[in-house]
Parts: sequence; structure tokens; C-alpha cells
Amino acid sequence: MKENDFRSVWLLLAGFCAAAAVVLALCVTARSQMPDTVGRMLTAEETVQITARNSPMTEYVYLSPNADFPPGDAIRKVTVHHMAGDLALEDLGASFARRDRRASSNYAIDSSGRVALYVEEGNRAWSSNSLANDDQAVTIEVANDQVGGDWHVSDTAFETLIELCVDICRRNGIPELRYTGDETGTLTLHSMFYDETECPGPYLKSRMGELAGEVNRRLKSG
Ligand SMILES: [Zn+2]
Repeated sequence: MKENDFRSVWLLLAGFCAAAAVVLALCVTARSQMPDTVGRMLTAEETVQITARNSPMTEYVYLSPNADFPPGDAIRKVTVHHMAGDLALEDLGASFARRDRRASSNYAIDSSGRVALYVEEGNRAWSSNSLANDDQAVTIEVANDQVGGDWHVSDTAFETLIELCVDICRRNGIPELRYTGDETGTLTLHSMFYDETECPGPYLKSRMGELAGEVNRRLKSG
């Protein structure tokens, strides 16, 4: 090897070390941004504090690590998902607690109309296979009281979905929900961003125009 070759190798090595240091620093920063309330059981006081800056309809809180802290954008949209099952809120929380699932949602509604919070509205949930959408959206999983078929949801869950959308719009200054059937609207669906999912299923999809209409009627009537 000539002297010049040695110098190139050392430069390359130094460059690699510098890059590694930057990556390490970024990892440490990302970790330190994750609130210490994430990924563990919360005290009653912590639950009250967290609920106070999210929906007052929340009855169960378990904060998932599968999220970005904090997100980028202001909240302008609501995205509807279905659970593809009739899960208890605690069981969905346990699923979102697993880092290898790399999935979460802001809220979920079970078949009896109870509401869970897994990712605070101020943080970005990993829900819709679209960072751009999840950046601006509050995402909601709804339980199915019929598994398969049209993936029906209970009347109670649907009514709670309306109320939760109204509450999210009011607190975040969203004047109305627009359902356009594609990603340009302010009411969006998982399947708009990912060809390989039918989420939220035929039943909820068939009622999205009605959902937007009823949410807007309630928003206008105060
Ligand atoms: Zn989904």
C-alpha cells in the first residue's frame, strides 16, 4: 500500500466513526423525547393529567411506545380504523405495548362504547401506513361485534364514534369533517393509504358519509 492509500483508509475510518456518533446521538435524543409515562401502568393521578389534555371521554389509558414524540403537524383530520375483532381495550393496549408490532392508534372504542387512549393526540400514532396522514390525524380503532362478513360494529360503538369525533373537532378547532372518499378529505380511512387492507371494513365504510354529516350537524348546533 502506498502512503496515499493509508491516508484514504484512515479518512474513511474517521468518517465512519463520525457517522456512527451522529446516529448514536440521534438515538439518544429520540429516546429522551419519549415521555416516562409510556409503556407502563400509570398512577391514578397520571391518568387524570393525561386525560385532561386529551378526550374527557377516555376511560382507559395505556400509552404505547409505537409513536413519534412529538409529531410535526397540527391536527386537521380524523382517521377511522376497525380492530378486525372484538377486543377488550386492555387487550388492544397489550398488543400496542409490543414494540415489534410497530403499530398503535390514538384511541379505540370497544363494543360497549368505552374509549381508550394509547397515543396522546399531541403525538403521532403509527396507524395508517402514511406518516403524512398520521402527522395530521387523530386515529380511532373501532371494535367489531361481528368478526368477518361486513365487519359490523355495535350501535353503541358507532354512537360513541360520533361523540368522540365531535369532541376531537371541538378541542382541536376543526370546523367540520369532510368525507370525500379519498385522502383529500378531513375524514380518512386506513384503506386510502394502503392497498393491502380493507380497514375499516365494508360496514363502517358505508356509514362514513353519515358519520361526517352527523358530526357536522352536532358541531353546528353547538
Ligand atoms: Zn386500520
